[in-house]
Amino acid sequence: MAHSNNGFFNQFGGKYVAEVLRRPLDELEVAFGEAMKDESFLKELETIQRDYIGRETPLLFAETATELLGGAQIYIKLEGLANTGAHKINNAIGQCLLAKRMGKKRIIAETGAGQHGVATAAACAKLGLDCTVYMGEVDVRRQQPNVATMEMYGAKVKAVTSGSRTLKDAVNEAMRDWAANPDTTHYCLGSALGPAPFPDIVREFQSVIGKEVKRQAAERKLDVAALIACCGGGSNSIGFFSPFVDEEKPRLIAVEAGGVGPGVGENASRMTGNASRDGIMQGYKSRFLLDDDGQALPTRSISAGLDYCGIGPQLAALGKSGRIEFTSALDSEALEAVKFFARNEGVLFALESAHAGAEAIKLAPTLPKDKAIIVNMSGRGDKDVFITCPVFRKDEWLAFLHAEIERIESDKDIHDAKSMVE
Ligand SMILES: *Cc1c(COP(=O)(O)O)cnc(C)c1O
Repeated sequence: MAHSNNGFFNQFGGKYVAEVLRRPLDELEVAFGEAMKDESFLKELETIQRDYIGRETPLLFAETATELLGGAQIYIKLEGLANTGAHKINNAIGQCLLAKRMGKKRIIAETGAGQHGVATAAACAKLGLDCTVYMGEVDVRRQQPNVATMEMYGAKVKAVTSGSRTLKDAVNEAMRDWAANPDTTHYCLGSALGPAPFPDIVREFQSVIGKEVKRQAAERKLDVAALIACCGGGSNSIGFFSPFVDEEKPRLIAVEAGGVGPGVGENASRMTGNASRDGIMQGYKSRFLLDDDGQALPTRSISAGLDYCGIGPQLAALGKSGRIEFTSALDSEALEAVKFFARNEGVLFALESAHAGAEAIKLAPTLPKDKAIIVNMSGRGDKDVFITCPVFRKDEWLAFLHAEIERIESDKDIHDAKSMVE
Protein backbone atom coordinates (compact mmCIF):
# COMPACT_ATOMS: atom_id res chain seq x y z
CA MET A 1 0.00 0.00 0.00
CA ALA A 2 2.72 2.47 -1.01
CA HIS A 3 0.17 4.75 -2.69
CA SER A 4 -3.57 5.15 -2.99
CA ASN A 5 -5.91 3.22 -5.21
CA ASN A 6 -7.91 6.01 -6.82
CA GLY A 7 -7.59 8.16 -3.71
CA PHE A 8 -8.37 5.33 -1.28
CA PHE A 9 -6.19 3.37 1.12
CA ASN A 10 -8.48 0.41 1.75
CA GLN A 11 -11.57 1.97 3.35
CA PHE A 12 -9.85 5.28 4.21
CA GLY A 13 -9.18 8.40 2.15
CA GLY A 14 -11.40 9.65 -0.64
CA LYS A 15 -12.50 13.09 -1.78
CA TYR A 16 -15.52 14.11 0.33
CA VAL A 17 -15.79 17.73 -0.77
CA ALA A 18 -18.32 20.21 -2.11
CA GLU A 19 -18.79 20.19 -5.87
CA VAL A 20 -16.82 23.45 -6.32
CA LEU A 21 -13.66 21.78 -5.03
CA ARG A 22 -13.85 18.74 -7.33
CA ARG A 23 -12.40 20.43 -10.37
CA PRO A 24 -9.37 21.98 -8.64
CA LEU A 25 -8.65 18.65 -6.91
CA ASP A 26 -8.97 16.70 -10.18
CA GLU A 27 -6.72 19.18 -12.00
CA LEU A 28 -4.17 18.97 -9.23
CA GLU A 29 -4.18 15.18 -9.44
CA VAL A 30 -3.48 15.22 -13.18
CA ALA A 31 -0.79 17.93 -12.89
CA PHE A 32 0.94 16.05 -10.07
CA GLY A 33 0.95 12.79 -12.03
CA GLU A 34 2.51 14.53 -15.04
CA ALA A 35 5.09 16.43 -12.99
CA MET A 36 6.35 13.27 -11.31
CA LYS A 37 7.07 11.77 -14.75
CA ASP A 38 8.77 14.93 -16.04
CA GLU A 39 12.57 14.64 -15.84
CA SER A 40 13.09 18.41 -15.87
CA PHE A 41 10.65 18.92 -12.95
CA LEU A 42 12.34 16.17 -10.94
CA LYS A 43 15.76 17.66 -11.71
CA GLU A 44 14.59 21.11 -10.58
CA LEU A 45 13.18 19.60 -7.38
CA GLU A 46 16.42 17.76 -6.67
CA THR A 47 18.52 20.89 -7.16
CA ILE A 48 16.42 23.01 -4.81
CA GLN A 49 16.35 20.19 -2.25
CA ARG A 50 20.15 20.17 -2.31
CA ASP A 51 20.92 23.89 -2.45
CA TYR A 52 18.04 25.45 -0.54
CA ILE A 53 16.77 22.81 1.88
CA GLY A 54 20.26 21.41 2.47
CA ARG A 55 19.65 17.76 1.51
CA GLU A 56 20.65 15.14 2.10
CA THR A 57 20.27 15.47 5.85
CA PRO A 58 22.74 13.45 7.96
CA LEU A 59 22.14 10.08 9.62
CA LEU A 60 23.87 10.38 13.01
CA PHE A 61 25.09 7.43 15.09
CA ALA A 62 23.98 8.29 18.64
CA GLU A 63 26.97 6.61 20.24
CA THR A 64 26.65 7.79 23.83
CA ALA A 65 22.90 7.22 23.91
CA THR A 66 23.45 3.70 22.57
CA GLU A 67 26.08 2.95 25.21
CA LEU A 68 23.94 4.31 28.05
CA LEU A 69 20.87 2.34 27.00
CA GLY A 70 22.87 -0.82 26.36
CA GLY A 71 20.99 -2.41 23.46
CA ALA A 72 20.39 -1.74 19.77
CA GLN A 73 22.42 0.98 18.04
CA ILE A 74 20.44 4.21 17.85
CA TYR A 75 20.68 6.33 14.72
CA ILE A 76 19.04 9.73 14.30
CA LYS A 77 17.93 11.13 10.95
CA LEU A 78 18.63 14.83 11.42
CA GLU A 79 15.68 16.23 9.50
CA GLY A 80 15.75 19.21 11.85
CA LEU A 81 18.85 20.41 9.98
CA ALA A 82 16.71 21.16 6.93
CA ASN A 83 16.34 24.89 6.22
CA THR A 84 13.60 26.39 8.43
CA GLY A 85 14.25 23.67 11.01
CA ALA A 86 11.93 20.79 10.18
CA HIS A 87 10.70 18.36 7.53
CA LYS A 88 7.74 20.56 6.55
CA ILE A 89 9.84 22.44 4.00
CA ASN A 90 10.12 19.25 1.86
CA ASN A 91 6.39 19.33 1.18
CA ALA A 92 6.12 23.13 0.92
CA ILE A 93 8.89 23.38 -1.68
CA GLY A 94 7.49 20.44 -3.65
CA GLN A 95 3.95 21.83 -3.79
CA CYS A 96 5.08 25.37 -4.58
CA LEU A 97 7.21 24.09 -7.48
CA LEU A 98 4.19 22.12 -8.70
CA ALA A 99 1.96 25.22 -8.44
CA LYS A 100 4.47 27.18 -10.50
CA ARG A 101 4.46 24.48 -13.14
CA MET A 102 0.65 24.75 -13.23
CA GLY A 103 0.95 28.50 -13.85
CA LYS A 104 -0.39 29.51 -10.44
CA LYS A 105 1.20 32.52 -8.83
CA ARG A 106 -0.74 32.62 -5.57
CA ILE A 107 -0.34 30.12 -2.71
CA ILE A 108 -2.62 29.72 0.30
CA ALA A 109 -2.00 27.51 3.30
CA GLU A 110 -3.50 26.66 6.67
CA THR A 111 -1.41 26.56 9.81
CA GLY A 112 -1.97 25.63 13.45
CA ALA A 113 1.17 26.16 15.47
CA GLY A 114 2.66 28.02 12.53
CA GLN A 115 5.32 25.53 11.41
CA HIS A 116 3.69 24.74 8.08
CA GLY A 117 2.94 28.43 7.60
CA VAL A 118 6.60 29.28 8.10
CA ALA A 119 7.72 26.56 5.65
CA THR A 120 5.22 27.69 3.01
CA ALA A 121 6.07 31.37 3.46
CA ALA A 122 9.78 30.56 3.04
CA ALA A 123 9.15 28.41 -0.05
CA CYS A 124 7.05 31.18 -1.61
CA ALA A 125 9.74 33.75 -0.90
CA LYS A 126 12.33 31.50 -2.55
CA LEU A 127 10.16 30.81 -5.60
CA GLY A 128 8.67 34.29 -6.04
CA LEU A 129 5.06 33.36 -5.24
CA ASP A 130 2.38 35.38 -3.45
CA CYS A 131 1.56 33.78 -0.08
CA THR A 132 -1.47 33.95 2.22
CA VAL A 133 -1.59 31.85 5.39
CA TYR A 134 -4.86 31.20 7.25
CA MET A 135 -4.44 30.84 10.99
CA GLY A 136 -7.01 30.71 13.78
CA GLU A 137 -7.15 33.93 15.80
CA VAL A 138 -6.35 31.99 18.99
CA ASP A 139 -3.23 30.52 17.34
CA VAL A 140 -2.15 33.92 15.98
CA ARG A 141 -2.08 35.19 19.54
CA ARG A 142 -0.33 32.09 20.96
CA GLN A 143 2.25 31.72 18.20
CA GLN A 144 3.54 35.26 17.62
CA PRO A 145 7.13 34.21 16.87
CA ASN A 146 5.95 32.11 13.92
CA VAL A 147 3.55 34.84 12.74
CA ALA A 148 6.44 37.31 12.78
CA THR A 149 8.63 34.87 10.84
CA MET A 150 5.96 34.32 8.17
CA GLU A 151 5.61 38.08 7.73
CA MET A 152 9.39 38.40 7.55
CA TYR A 153 9.24 36.05 4.53
CA GLY A 154 6.63 38.35 3.01
CA ALA A 155 3.50 36.25 3.64
CA LYS A 156 0.13 37.70 4.62
CA VAL A 157 -1.25 36.04 7.76
CA LYS A 158 -5.04 36.10 7.96
CA ALA A 159 -6.54 35.54 11.40
CA VAL A 160 -9.61 33.29 11.21
CA THR A 161 -12.39 34.32 13.60
CA SER A 162 -14.97 31.56 12.93
CA GLY A 163 -15.66 28.50 15.10
CA SER A 164 -13.07 27.66 17.74
CA ARG A 165 -10.61 30.00 15.93
CA THR A 166 -7.96 27.25 15.65
CA LEU A 167 -6.52 24.89 13.01
CA LYS A 168 -9.81 23.26 11.94
CA ASP A 169 -11.31 26.67 11.16
CA ALA A 170 -8.17 27.76 9.30
CA VAL A 171 -8.53 24.67 7.04
CA ASN A 172 -12.18 25.56 6.31
CA GLU A 173 -11.21 29.11 5.42
CA ALA A 174 -8.40 27.97 3.10
CA MET A 175 -10.83 25.56 1.35
CA ARG A 176 -13.30 28.42 0.88
CA ASP A 177 -10.62 30.67 -0.61
CA TRP A 178 -9.48 27.89 -2.98
CA ALA A 179 -13.03 27.20 -4.13
CA ALA A 180 -13.42 30.90 -4.97
CA ASN A 181 -10.04 31.27 -6.74
CA PRO A 182 -9.13 27.90 -8.29
CA ASP A 183 -7.57 29.31 -11.47
CA THR A 184 -5.00 31.59 -9.83
CA THR A 185 -4.42 29.80 -6.57
CA HIS A 186 -2.89 26.59 -5.24
CA TYR A 187 -3.81 25.34 -1.77
CA CYS A 188 -0.60 24.02 -0.19
CA LEU A 189 -1.93 21.60 2.44
CA GLY A 190 0.50 20.83 5.24
CA SER A 191 0.22 17.16 6.19
CA ALA A 192 -0.52 13.76 4.63
CA LEU A 193 -4.27 14.19 5.04
CA GLY A 194 -7.23 16.03 3.51
CA PRO A 195 -9.07 15.00 0.34
CA ALA A 196 -7.28 13.08 -2.44
CA PRO A 197 -4.81 13.72 -4.01
CA PHE A 198 -3.19 15.51 -1.02
CA PRO A 199 -2.23 12.39 0.99
CA ASP A 200 -0.37 11.04 -2.09
CA ILE A 201 1.25 14.39 -2.92
CA VAL A 202 2.48 15.11 0.60
CA ARG A 203 3.82 11.55 1.03
CA GLU A 204 5.73 11.71 -2.26
CA PHE A 205 7.41 15.01 -1.41
CA GLN A 206 8.26 13.74 2.09
CA SER A 207 9.46 10.33 0.86
CA VAL A 208 12.85 11.93 0.21
CA ILE A 209 13.47 11.28 3.94
CA GLY A 210 12.93 7.52 3.64
CA LYS A 211 14.81 7.22 0.34
CA GLU A 212 17.87 8.86 1.87
CA VAL A 213 17.65 6.69 4.99
CA LYS A 214 17.43 3.53 2.90
CA ARG A 215 20.60 4.52 1.04
CA GLN A 216 22.41 5.69 4.18
CA ALA A 217 21.55 2.51 6.10
CA ALA A 218 22.70 0.30 3.20
CA GLU A 219 26.00 2.20 2.86
CA ARG A 220 26.73 1.50 6.52
CA LYS A 221 25.44 -2.05 6.31
CA LEU A 222 23.06 -1.51 9.22
CA ASP A 223 20.78 -4.35 10.29
CA VAL A 224 17.74 -2.14 10.88
CA ALA A 225 15.16 -3.56 13.30
CA ALA A 226 12.84 -0.55 13.47
CA LEU A 227 12.12 2.93 12.17
CA ILE A 228 10.47 5.29 14.65
CA ALA A 229 8.67 8.56 13.88
CA CYS A 230 6.26 10.85 15.68
CA CYS A 231 2.82 11.14 14.16
CA GLY A 232 0.54 14.17 13.99
CA GLY A 233 -1.18 14.36 10.61
CA GLY A 234 1.43 11.86 9.50
CA SER A 235 3.65 13.58 6.94
CA ASN A 236 7.07 12.96 8.48
CA SER A 237 6.22 9.39 9.44
CA ILE A 238 4.77 8.33 6.08
CA GLY A 239 7.63 10.05 4.21
CA PHE A 240 10.14 8.20 6.37
CA PHE A 241 8.33 4.85 6.14
CA SER A 242 7.09 4.90 2.56
CA PRO A 243 10.03 3.13 0.82
CA PHE A 244 9.60 0.30 3.36
CA VAL A 245 5.82 -0.20 3.61
CA ASP A 246 5.66 -2.86 0.90
CA GLU A 247 8.52 -4.80 2.51
CA GLU A 248 8.15 -7.04 5.54
CA LYS A 249 10.94 -5.42 7.53
CA PRO A 250 11.90 -3.31 9.42
CA ARG A 251 9.23 -2.65 12.05
CA LEU A 252 7.61 0.75 11.46
CA ILE A 253 6.59 2.48 14.69
CA ALA A 254 4.51 5.66 14.79
CA VAL A 255 4.29 7.56 18.07
CA GLU A 256 1.24 9.68 18.85
CA ALA A 257 0.85 12.30 21.54
CA GLY A 258 -0.06 10.62 24.84
CA GLY A 259 -0.48 14.06 26.43
CA VAL A 260 -1.10 13.87 30.16
CA GLY A 261 -2.97 10.55 30.19
CA PRO A 262 -5.48 8.20 28.56
CA GLY A 263 -8.66 10.19 29.36
CA VAL A 264 -10.80 11.88 26.71
CA GLY A 265 -9.35 15.34 26.00
CA GLU A 266 -6.02 14.45 27.62
CA ASN A 267 -4.12 13.35 24.52
CA ALA A 268 -4.14 13.16 20.72
CA SER A 269 -4.03 9.35 20.29
CA ARG A 270 -6.19 8.80 17.22
CA MET A 271 -5.17 5.18 16.70
CA THR A 272 -4.81 3.88 20.24
CA GLY A 273 -6.96 6.30 22.24
CA ASN A 274 -10.27 5.68 24.01
CA ALA A 275 -12.27 8.02 21.75
CA SER A 276 -10.79 6.76 18.48
CA ARG A 277 -13.42 6.31 15.74
CA ASP A 278 -13.81 6.04 11.97
CA GLY A 279 -15.26 9.21 10.54
CA ILE A 280 -15.33 11.71 7.70
CA MET A 281 -14.05 15.23 8.32
CA GLN A 282 -12.58 18.00 6.18
CA GLY A 283 -12.79 16.01 3.00
CA TYR A 284 -11.43 12.56 3.91
CA LYS A 285 -12.32 9.36 5.71
CA SER A 286 -9.96 8.27 8.47
CA ARG A 287 -9.56 7.73 12.21
CA PHE A 288 -10.50 10.69 14.41
CA LEU A 289 -11.08 11.54 18.04
CA LEU A 290 -14.85 12.09 18.03
CA ASP A 291 -17.67 12.29 20.55
CA ASP A 292 -20.88 10.23 20.28
CA ASP A 293 -22.41 12.82 17.93
CA GLY A 294 -19.44 12.62 15.58
CA GLN A 295 -18.07 16.00 16.65
CA ALA A 296 -14.31 16.54 16.94
CA LEU A 297 -13.08 16.25 20.52
CA PRO A 298 -10.56 18.60 22.07
CA THR A 299 -7.01 17.21 22.08
CA ARG A 300 -4.03 17.87 24.27
CA SER A 301 -0.27 17.66 23.80
CA ILE A 302 2.76 19.63 24.88
CA SER A 303 3.82 19.54 21.22
CA ALA A 304 1.68 21.79 19.03
CA GLY A 305 2.46 19.75 15.91
CA LEU A 306 0.90 16.54 17.27
CA ASP A 307 -2.13 18.24 18.82
CA TYR A 308 -4.79 17.37 16.20
CA CYS A 309 -7.92 15.19 16.16
CA GLY A 310 -7.31 13.58 12.74
CA ILE A 311 -4.67 11.39 11.11
CA GLY A 312 -3.79 10.78 7.45
CA PRO A 313 -5.82 8.02 5.76
CA GLN A 314 -2.80 6.00 4.62
CA LEU A 315 -1.53 5.84 8.19
CA ALA A 316 -4.96 4.80 9.43
CA ALA A 317 -5.04 2.01 6.83
CA LEU A 318 -1.49 0.81 7.53
CA GLY A 319 -2.25 0.92 11.24
CA LYS A 320 -5.31 -1.19 10.73
CA SER A 321 -3.43 -3.71 8.54
CA GLY A 322 -0.71 -3.92 11.19
CA ARG A 323 2.19 -2.84 8.95
CA ILE A 324 2.62 0.31 11.06
CA GLU A 325 2.57 -0.19 14.84
CA PHE A 326 1.09 2.69 16.81
CA THR A 327 2.10 3.69 20.29
CA SER A 328 2.20 6.93 22.27
CA ALA A 329 4.49 8.93 24.54
CA LEU A 330 3.40 11.17 27.40
CA ASP A 331 4.30 14.86 27.58
CA SER A 332 6.64 14.04 30.46
CA GLU A 333 8.39 11.29 28.46
CA ALA A 334 8.88 13.66 25.52
CA LEU A 335 10.44 16.28 27.82
CA GLU A 336 12.77 13.63 29.28
CA ALA A 337 13.79 12.58 25.77
CA VAL A 338 14.58 16.20 24.84
CA LYS A 339 16.94 16.37 27.84
CA PHE A 340 18.47 12.95 27.21
CA PHE A 341 19.45 13.56 23.59
CA ALA A 342 20.50 17.18 24.20
CA ARG A 343 22.87 16.18 26.99
CA ASN A 344 24.24 12.98 25.52
CA GLU A 345 24.27 13.70 21.80
CA GLY A 346 24.30 17.49 21.49
CA VAL A 347 21.09 17.24 19.48
CA LEU A 348 18.04 19.28 20.48
CA PHE A 349 14.85 17.49 19.44
CA ALA A 350 11.63 19.37 18.71
CA LEU A 351 8.96 18.34 21.23
CA GLU A 352 7.10 16.52 18.44
CA SER A 353 10.17 14.52 17.42
CA ALA A 354 10.99 13.84 21.07
CA HIS A 355 7.95 11.52 21.14
CA ALA A 356 9.87 9.29 18.71
CA GLY A 357 13.02 9.75 20.82
CA ALA A 358 11.10 8.60 23.90
CA GLU A 359 10.07 5.39 22.13
CA ALA A 360 13.70 4.75 21.10
CA ILE A 361 14.73 5.05 24.76
CA LYS A 362 12.16 2.36 25.64
CA LEU A 363 12.88 0.06 22.69
CA ALA A 364 16.70 0.08 22.36
CA PRO A 365 17.46 -1.83 25.61
CA THR A 366 15.09 -4.66 24.56
CA LEU A 367 17.03 -5.37 21.34
CA PRO A 368 20.45 -6.97 20.70
CA LYS A 369 23.53 -4.81 20.09
CA ASP A 370 23.97 -5.85 16.46
CA LYS A 371 20.59 -4.35 15.50
CA ALA A 372 19.97 -0.71 14.64
CA ILE A 373 16.94 1.48 15.20
CA ILE A 374 16.50 4.77 13.36
CA VAL A 375 14.63 7.72 14.86
CA ASN A 376 13.39 10.52 12.65
CA MET A 377 14.14 13.83 14.33
CA SER A 378 11.48 15.64 12.29
CA GLY A 379 12.49 19.03 13.65
CA ARG A 380 14.89 20.79 15.96
CA GLY A 381 13.83 22.25 19.28
CA ASP A 382 14.93 25.88 19.04
CA LYS A 383 11.29 26.83 18.38
CA ASP A 384 10.21 25.28 21.69
CA VAL A 385 12.05 27.53 24.16
CA PHE A 386 8.78 29.24 25.06
CA ILE A 387 7.39 25.88 26.15
CA THR A 388 10.44 24.08 27.56
CA CYS A 389 11.91 27.02 29.52
CA PRO A 390 8.82 27.61 31.69
CA VAL A 391 8.97 23.89 32.56
CA PHE A 392 12.71 23.45 33.11
CA ARG A 393 13.57 26.87 34.61
CA LYS A 394 10.41 28.74 35.44
CA ASP A 395 11.80 31.45 37.75
CA GLU A 396 14.66 32.44 35.46
CA TRP A 397 12.31 32.50 32.48
CA LEU A 398 9.79 34.73 34.29
CA ALA A 399 12.55 37.13 35.26
CA PHE A 400 13.72 37.21 31.64
CA LEU A 401 10.21 37.95 30.34
CA HIS A 402 9.70 40.74 32.87
CA ALA A 403 13.01 42.28 31.86
CA GLU A 404 12.04 41.99 28.20
CA ILE A 405 8.74 43.78 28.80
CA GLU A 406 10.56 46.55 30.61
CA ARG A 407 13.10 46.84 27.82
CA ILE A 408 10.43 47.06 25.15
CA GLU A 409 8.33 49.55 27.11
CA SER A 410 11.30 51.79 27.81
CA ASP A 411 11.64 51.88 24.03
CA LYS A 412 15.15 53.31 23.83
CA ASP A 413 17.03 50.53 21.95
CA ILE A 414 14.01 49.74 19.86
CA HIS A 415 13.52 53.32 18.77
CA ASP A 416 17.17 53.54 17.73
CA ALA A 417 17.10 50.26 15.80
CA LYS A 418 13.81 51.11 14.12
CA SER A 419 15.10 54.44 12.88
CA MET A 420 17.97 52.57 11.24
CA VAL A 421 15.78 50.18 9.23
CA GLU A 422 13.18 52.72 8.18
C1 LIG B 1 4.23 19.60 12.21
C2 LIG B 1 5.27 18.79 12.82
C3 LIG B 1 5.07 17.42 13.10
C4 LIG B 1 3.75 16.73 12.93
O1 LIG B 1 3.29 16.66 11.62
P1 LIG B 1 3.32 15.34 10.75
O2 LIG B 1 2.52 15.71 9.55
O3 LIG B 1 2.73 14.23 11.54
O4 LIG B 1 4.74 15.06 10.42
C5 LIG B 1 6.13 16.70 13.61
N1 LIG B 1 7.32 17.25 13.85
C6 LIG B 1 7.56 18.56 13.61
C7 LIG B 1 8.91 19.12 13.90
C8 LIG B 1 6.55 19.38 13.08
O5 LIG B 1 6.79 20.67 12.85
